[in-house]
Amino acid sequence: METYINQLLEDIKASLSNVPRPYIPPEGVNFWDIPTPDEEECYAPVRALEELTGISKDQLPPAHMLTDDQISRLLAILNELLNAYNWCFVLQNKVPERVQYATIRENFNQLVKVKYWDTGFFEVCQQGSEHKQCSLGEYCQCAFYAELFADFVDEDLTPQEERRRALDIEIRHLKKKYDDDWMRYYPYHLDPDYDDDDGNPYDYGMGWEEDDDEDW
Ligand SMILES: [Zn+2]
Repeated sequence: METYINQLLEDIKASLSNVPRPYIPPEGVNFWDIPTPDEEECYAPVRALEELTGISKDQLPPAHMLTDDQISRLLAILNELLNAYNWCFVLQNKVPERVQYATIRENFNQLVKVKYWDTGFFEVCQQGSEHKQCSLGEYCQCAFYAELFADFVDEDLTPQEERRRALDIEIRHLKKKYDDDWMRYYPYHLDPDYDDDDGNPYDYGMGWEEDDDEDW
């Protein structure tokens, strides 16, 4: 298996050196005419990830056939590959490497939007699949988001209430994502207790003082 893995790593490296760069906008799109994410979502060409990268799902061995070390090496380079093709594999919580690898492998035969400006994201939970029944199991991302928004129903909110809700959702998100470390990422700008005397949100020491403008 080790010989096979080394060959596979070489194949992925070859694919990495074939990523189209610099990005060339699709025909008819002016390079400087930067589209909004929504616009790009509409017109970005769609291709099979396997065809785009030249790496097929069948080339990736099932996780149970691999050692932890092999999983680790493959996962690292697959992440590199997906980042290079602007189709990033992003998870919102801590997931064991073996489960991450299995998830990439299981979903590698997906379609991608070839985006130039905006970031595209690798689909980790197949559409229409039941929560926690996907390859992420207990780490299912759809279930993560469903739980995140569970108590928040649609209703008319004042701007203050909206902000309060954004703060609650962000804190809940951070706690799930960073466990005990979450306070390090506290969203001070959403918390009215940290607004300045003029009611402006906390600026993280960026100092948008009007006097500064005069130096420009
Ligand atoms: Zn899922």
